Amino acid sequence: MSCAACPRRCAQRSSGFCGVGEKILVGRIAPHFWEEPPISGTKGSGTVFFSGCSLRCVFCQNRAISHELLGQALSEQELHERICRLLETGVHNLNFVTPTHYSLFLAEFLEKHRYPVPVVYNCSGYESEEALEALRGKVQIFLPDFKYSDEALACRYSAAPGYVEIARRALEKMYELVGDVQSDEEGMMQKGIIVRHLMLPGATENTMGVMDIFERFARRKKVLFSLMSQYTPVGDISAYPELCERVQKEDYEKALNYLALSGIDGFCQEPESADEIYIPPFAAELE
Ligand code: SF4
Repeated sequence: MSCAACPRRCAQRSSGFCGVGEKILVGRIAPHFWEEPPISGTKGSGTVFFSGCSLRCVFCQNRAISHELLGQALSEQELHERICRLLETGVHNLNFVTPTHYSLFLAEFLEKHRYPVPVVYNCSGYESEEALEALRGKVQIFLPDFKYSDEALACRYSAAPGYVEIARRALEKMYELVGDVQSDEEGMMQKGIIVRHLMLPGATENTMGVMDIFERFARRKKVLFSLMSQYTPVGDISAYPELCERVQKEDYEKALNYLALSGIDGFCQEPESADEIYIPPFAAELE
């Protein structure tokens, strides 16, 4: 049966690009402390990392789960029970990481199971507008990546033709669904959008193009941008020699200056966060 969960629209889900078929495959369920401050807070964000991915970038920082499908298959009831246990730890929100290939499943799941914290949809940005519509009223916070302003890079690294326009339209749809950022009295985000961009080595023009797109999108809106410098070469990327380095300090500073001049509101990372120790541990069996 064909699949409409993401823009690839594979003819058969069982042999689709994301690789998960009908299973609900999960690589990690745990509080997570390395999201942006209004998401992680002091108690952590309640992350559910799905295995498989509809984008499968060659430089993926979580490739053990996204490419190699490390993880445990759960029934819907088992997923719900594990989420309840996670929420008992006091996390600020429920954060579905790499959820795009499970978007339609989550739309039904969140219809049945309502949770007492904001639901975060932490995705690649390469989203189907129809699938996002199915999440209306069920997701309060979107954390989409905006990876590329350069179509050639989108094709080279993610085999994702049309990424730029698809991601731009998805962003407009997310804003239609959740609107401006709202936070509680402790500064924890309750609804809204943070757009993330991971800088890639040697691709500063791509980064500045993403900021241009965001700046146009953000006019007269309260939305946030997060510039990430944590890129770490992982896995066998020898076919992409330009990705075998880290982001140069001067390139990051150039991007930071561009960000400051643009007037975009948001976050940036310390360059020290570019290290494999910041990649969460994943396992075939969940704890
Ligand atoms: S989620 Fe996307 S990549 Fe996966 S089977 Fe469906 S259309 Fe294909």
